[in-house]
Amino acid sequence: MLSVSDRLLQLLAWRPRRTPLADRALAVVRDRFSPCSACRGSLHRHLLAKLASVFVGDGSAREQELEGLVSTQQWERASEYQDWSSDRAVRKYHLIRCPQKSQIVLIRVLSTPEMWTDDRVDTKEVLNQRDYEAILGIIGDKWLTL
Ligand SMILES: [Zn+2]
Repeated sequence: MLSVSDRLLQLLAWRPRRTPLADRALAVVRDRFSPCSACRGSLHRHLLAKLASVFVGDGSAREQELEGLVSTQQWERASEYQDWSSDRAVRKYHLIRCPQKSQIVLIRVLSTPEMWTDDRVDTKEVLNQRDYEAILGIIGDKWLTL
């Protein structure tokens, strides 16, 4: 089962214009990732992007490699990890861009195929200004408005 955020990204990939369905999906993501760790408010008008994702629990070193890259702020290399399958557990690194504070919040999410209730948010952290600039360069225009 795909998580809401992945369904949303797929939906917007083939139907990039806003529709009632896309707006409902965005509302679910807003609720799940709220409140914003930077401004403490609702995520309305905040921007969402996915930095990276990796399969978990497959015994490979990739999961630790990616966490190592993220925790040492090697964003460009981290963004090369884009594992995905609808029937495997995946750890995802989402980014929320706060328009009030001009900051980015990194959200670690666990998504498993068994989860009817969708992604589990594990950690949320506000990045510093240097990382903010680096991530803007990597994500470019691939932000979705919540
Ligand atoms: Zn905010």
